[in-house]
Amino acid sequence: MPWKWYDSHIMRIEDAGPNIKCFWLEVHDVENFDFLPGQFVTMDLPIHEKRLKRWRSYSIANGPLGGNVLEFCIVKLDKGAASTYLFEEARVGTAVRFKGPDGGFVLPDPIDHDMIMVCTGTGVAPFRSMLQAIQHGNIPHKNLHLIFGTRNEEGILYRKEFEQLALEWPAFEYSLALSREPEWAGTKGHVHQIYEGAYSEVKPDRHFYLCGWSQMIDEAVAKIMLGMGYDKSQIHYELYG
Ligand SMILES: Cc1cc2nc3c(=O)[nH]c(=O)nc-3n(C[C@H](O)[C@H](O)[C@H](O)COP(=O)(O)OP(=O)(O)OC[C@H]3O[C@@H](n4cnc5c(N)ncnc54)[C@H](O)[C@@H]3O)c2cc1C
Repeated sequence: MPWKWYDSHIMRIEDAGPNIKCFWLEVHDVENFDFLPGQFVTMDLPIHEKRLKRWRSYSIANGPLGGNVLEFCIVKLDKGAASTYLFEEARVGTAVRFKGPDGGFVLPDPIDHDMIMVCTGTGVAPFRSMLQAIQHGNIPHKNLHLIFGTRNEEGILYRKEFEQLALEWPAFEYSLALSREPEWAGTKGHVHQIYEGAYSEVKPDRHFYLCGWSQMIDEAVAKIMLGMGYDKSQIHYELYG
């Protein structure tokens, strides 16, 4: 199937944490931009003459609740071409062309197992989309556990929203691991400690969903499969790079 390209413009930018910003794109010429929660789009950014070197993928951070506005949560990498462009040159009103939606890191249908969602930093984006979709779409589900890791408190993304959700939604559990916050009363260290402690007993109706950068994903896959003994089919991941 040919790729479908969309035109859009940036309608809002907000700081979300150290070197992290949220961007909202308004998609042109559609009333509803259809996508599955967990999917991403690929933006063509003016950072290189060669087309393929201009493309960067970003997970949609809001749920498909109708409308033509997409939210993204993006980290600025040291010397990163696209993220530096988005942070330093892009403004409200800047045009962004993108293709998509793409990707198979989506909710199971039906949700017939517990979903343990493990992420670091902006890897939370697809899970936020999935959780919004489940909650607002009244999708039947089992237990949902979001395990988020970052260095310090400032880097906790969507904290109030998830804390509130955990209070209101009995099936939803929210855990944080901070690796460089000495005064933190919760888990000090990495996301792995949390799921290793909570899910050491292997169960067939429990799946792990991982999203983020290769170091975290590689470690998690090794720990969950080799260390804890879960089957490969119980692990799903979206690798950012
Ligand atoms: C399916 C998919 C979805 C994605 N969704 C998101 C998203 O929602 N939010 C988001 O922020 N990113 C997301 N990414 C990553 C994004 O596509 C870019 O790769 C990222 O923004 C870096 O691009 P850049 O041009 O700034 O850096 P580049 O110029 O491409 O690269 C900069 C350098 O940084 C290195 N690098 C890789 N990982 C890290 C790291 N963790 N810390 C420091 N340096 C590193 C790279 O290897 C490279 O050498 C996603 C990637 C994929 C494949």
